[in-house]
Amino acid sequence: MLIDVHGHIGRVLPDRSEFVDVTNLIAKMDAWGIDATCILPLSEHPEGAYLECNTEDVIAACAHYPDRLIPFCLIDPRYGNRASQDFSHLLEEYVARGCRGLGELLPKMEFDDPRCMNLYHQAGAFGLPVLFDMQDRADGYGLRDHFGLPRLERALQQCPETVFIGHGPTFWAEISGEVPRGNRSCYPSGPVAPGGAVPRLMRRYPNLWADVSAGSGHTALTRDPQFGIEFLDEFQGRLMFGTDSCRRSDVNDVYMTVSFMRDVRDNRELSEEALAKIEWRNATELLGLNVEG
Ligand SMILES: [Zn+2]
Repeated sequence: MLIDVHGHIGRVLPDRSEFVDVTNLIAKMDAWGIDATCILPLSEHPEGAYLECNTEDVIAACAHYPDRLIPFCLIDPRYGNRASQDFSHLLEEYVARGCRGLGELLPKMEFDDPRCMNLYHQAGAFGLPVLFDMQDRADGYGLRDHFGLPRLERALQQCPETVFIGHGPTFWAEISGEVPRGNRSCYPSGPVAPGGAVPRLMRRYPNLWADVSAGSGHTALTRDPQFGIEFLDEFQGRLMFGTDSCRRSDVNDVYMTVSFMRDVRDNRELSEEALAKIEWRNATELLGLNVEG
């Protein structure tokens, strides 16, 4: 059993030839041995005007493959543009229509902006974990934080009822205690220095989870192989497999995070129990999915 908690459909990349429709996604899942995928809307945020996939698109697509596709919903924290905005009418509807999480949250805002904190609180009250992308580029999208992730820590403290699923270059760069200043959205390589914010926060806050998707997650877990396995083992109860594969052409290649998990399994680097948690069991428990391993 393999569940991908980080999938996309639609025109996710500026290159319009890379349109990924649902049958293309299903083909990738079949080719890579993925049983079910969470589909994350993106286009509620104006940062990505080329992103053509909103919550309605996701719900409609997932309805065609109810056994394979799991919808997430997305709300822009700036909707209403005040920290007291009531999102409950949207959240209630999205939950009733089957959405299991909120994300991919990637507005270009400070992580603990009062409007974001308001959304975190309300998502948690509706039982929806928040899957976020954190970046540090001057242009583009993604939530923002300082070195050491103090804004994320504040959200974890003040929203204990909300599960946060970490993702993205700046989040994963902070697996190490040494982060390249001035370029925290790169994909740092080489040995992981002790004292990284991500392991520190995961030890301290049970509401911090992470998906291992994309080049950022893959790099974080492979740049220092021994550290990566120890990290997977220590946080096996709150890490989830994911791909974030956005290219139509990806179907021809086994995605990097898929082959990484296969290698870990083949090399017996983790226990069968830990692998099962990361590959599917954690996702089923967090998202309330009704699947049998
Ligand atoms: Zn994504």
